[in-house]
Amino acid sequence: MLISERRPGEASPAAAGMLAPSVERAPGPAHAFGIAARDRYPSYVDFLADRTGVKVPLNRLGILQVALSEKGINGLRKTALPTTRWLDAKELRELEPALSHGLGAMFNAKDGAVDNVVLLSALEKLSTSYDRVRRISGEVRRVDPAADSCTVSTESRAQSTARRVVIAAGAWAGKISGALLARAVQPARGQLVSYSSSPLRHVAYGPHGYVVPRGPVTIGGTTMESVGFDSSTTAIGVKKVRAASEEICPSLSDARQVDAWAGLRPVTPDMLPMIGPDPKHPSLIYACGHSRNGVLMAPLTGDLIADLVTESPLSHDLSQFRPDRF
Ligand SMILES: Cc1cc2nc3c(=O)[nH]c(=O)nc-3n(C[C@H](O)[C@H](O)[C@H](O)COP(=O)(O)OP(=O)(O)OC[C@H]3O[C@@H](n4cnc5c(N)ncnc54)[C@H](O)[C@@H]3O)c2cc1C
Repeated sequence: MLISERRPGEASPAAAGMLAPSVERAPGPAHAFGIAARDRYPSYVDFLADRTGVKVPLNRLGILQVALSEKGINGLRKTALPTTRWLDAKELRELEPALSHGLGAMFNAKDGAVDNVVLLSALEKLSTSYDRVRRISGEVRRVDPAADSCTVSTESRAQSTARRVVIAAGAWAGKISGALLARAVQPARGQLVSYSSSPLRHVAYGPHGYVVPRGPVTIGGTTMESVGFDSSTTAIGVKKVRAASEEICPSLSDARQVDAWAGLRPVTPDMLPMIGPDPKHPSLIYACGHSRNGVLMAPLTGDLIADLVTESPLSHDLSQFRPDRF
């Protein structure tokens, strides 16, 4: 049974869709988890294409971190991973002529982006294709975990009981009464814009933001704001995002702005997700708080939640993601 409702500010449709574990780096073993999640994507999108006919666009060309000053070069070189490669200005220009003003770039092979909007439509199609999955549209108000089961109550006072209940309610997870550990999850607004041209093949980061090619448009991001559950865009936010994007790729300033939108990231104090059961109430499982990397981690989180629900051996150590660590 899947109980959910749509609401403004949902992160998954708003995201830029980057698969950037080498840039949005997680500390400790979580980094290896991010790399494994990125590398899970090709088989994940193949599976979705097979089951739904929806081909989710996946870009694995690598991500560029462009240096626009000597200071930028030094900073990028200092934080380089063994898996990254430095491109000088000539190599960068040959790879991406639209970045020819760059002094060089760190190249993060295999990182890239997925079209998360198409991905969501594939997942929607997949979930409606299973007769055994009952879908209920509505707001979950509370969960009451007992020894071997958990009861879920919705706004219409309907109740359902299951052996395992998974909390995957994004930035709002901590608002569900009884999901006590999710109170560590807070919203962090991010604003994005899209441009009517697509001068790049690679995702590129600059000193103040990033640009992501998506079909005929380019997405530019982003802000990181603590403004509660307000998911509107602001003139200042959009201006900032445009400046950061056009600094990376100057030709975008000649393109038309197609859209601007915002979403609420579900962030935790250490920016790592909560994946696992509540140690006191194992019938309640948390899959939330994915912060800036929820699209990246989605397929692997799904695999692990399936393992937890079916009590199968886990393919990854989840101790860094324990929901009770705060
Ligand atoms: C601007 C922006 C850019 C981002 N870019 C990237 C990126 O490039 N790469 C990356 O990996 N990640 C990115 N992220 C982060 C990523 O989007 C999130 O980590 C991820 O989408 C979180 O997914 P989620 O399912 O937990 O939350 P959501 O996608 O927000 O989904 C939560 C769902 O639960 C529903 N819900 C909430 N409460 C209830 C309730 N009580 N009852 C019923 N339903 C409920 C909501 O309506 C919603 O449908 C970005 C996020 C933002 C905002």
